[in-house]
Amino acid sequence: MDTAQFDVIVIGAGIAGASAAAFLSADHRVALIEAEEVAGYHTTGRSAAIWILNYGPPDVVALTGLSRGFFENPPPGFADAPLFAPRAVLSLAPPEQSAHLDAKIANGIGLEEISIAEATALVPALRADYATRAAIERDAFDMDVAALHQGFLRQLRANNGVLALRARSGRIEQRGAQWHVEVSGGAEFEAPAIVNAAGAWGDSVAMQAGLRPIGLVPKRRTAAVIDPAPFTPHAWPMVGDVDHTWYARCEARTKLMVSPADETPMEPQDIQPDELDIAIGIDRMQQALDIEVRRVEHSWAGLRSFAPDGSLVFGEDPQANRFFWCIGQGGYGIQTAPAAGRLVADLVSGRDPGEPGKLLASITPRRFL
Ligand SMILES: Cc1cc2nc3c(=O)[nH]c(=O)nc-3n(C[C@H](O)[C@H](O)[C@H](O)COP(=O)(O)OP(=O)(O)OC[C@H]3O[C@@H](n4cnc5c(N)ncnc54)[C@H](O)[C@@H]3O)c2cc1C
Repeated sequence: MDTAQFDVIVIGAGIAGASAAAFLSADHRVALIEAEEVAGYHTTGRSAAIWILNYGPPDVVALTGLSRGFFENPPPGFADAPLFAPRAVLSLAPPEQSAHLDAKIANGIGLEEISIAEATALVPALRADYATRAAIERDAFDMDVAALHQGFLRQLRANNGVLALRARSGRIEQRGAQWHVEVSGGAEFEAPAIVNAAGAWGDSVAMQAGLRPIGLVPKRRTAAVIDPAPFTPHAWPMVGDVDHTWYARCEARTKLMVSPADETPMEPQDIQPDELDIAIGIDRMQQALDIEVRRVEHSWAGLRSFAPDGSLVFGEDPQANRFFWCIGQGGYGIQTAPAAGRLVADLVSGRDPGEPGKLLASITPRRFL
């Protein structure tokens, strides 16, 4: 069996593995191993691609905020196109969600209540009888996920890192100070440190290494694309209700992506959309927006994977020397990726991570193991 020697093996080439591998490759020889034929095939290629500060638990909010500068000013040559295009987020409150709107504004950062007339000016399809109140988060933005992901993979290659596709990890063993990872196709990778960035398969990879799973739960989220003509949603904010039971945002300038914000627990797999979830999403959207839906042009689903407490799981496993977790990114793995990738690289390198170091107690895998 061929054995290739590296400083770090990263398992999973979605946004989590790609960003960690890119930052690590600055001073380590890195192998990024990916089960599929292309990197980004699973959740990373299926997101809604929006950066929202007021979204997720406090550790996520912190890493989202710390990532903003990277989207605005990526390193020279990182991407050919901007990673960032402003798009506000409009939260609508039907009468029964009014108290939740107050709580959202009170607990959030930079959320501002606006009148229903202002909300209608932003989204002219808004039905007059749906919401009684609304709030806007103005400094959210669309992310170019493909450009971000490819930028990290380009950085990895420029630093002599290796992306191994069609390389699903099998047996993972620590012999002495070295981790050995056998992959499909028969190759073996060897390194003193390993990063588990396998997304929905995070617990499976831990178990391949003989480690205890943390209880990760992949949850299906569905999206459907419709034509909202005669409306042109290009300049609309992303729009949804305060309780996050549906949302819609412009897709490809003239279309609208609609989601029921579903969270159905599933086994890790190449997840496909469910017709009922698509219908529920469109029905909830139509209660708020006066848009006729003649047909669904395209739909998809992805797995958002959560730790039992909903927070991130980053850090060294307490049972296994130099086995690092980088999972539990839920619905925020793209918007947190720049700061998360740097943090994971700092942890593996034994460097002081600075500001994100304050989060370590709440994101360590030790809390489960
Ligand atoms: C509909 C939807 C909307 C979303 N919207 C947003 C959003 O607006 N903003 C945001 O920030 N996030 C959003 N997310 C969440 C975001 O997409 C995820 O948090 C992120 O993509 C997770 O990245 P990942 O690298 O952890 O997982 P993945 O992209 O799934 O990557 C994991 C990789 O590991 C590989 N792998 C697994 N097991 C093995 C193995 N044994 N050996 C080798 N490789 C393996 C898999 O093949 C996969 O490529 C959304 C998600 C969905 C589904």
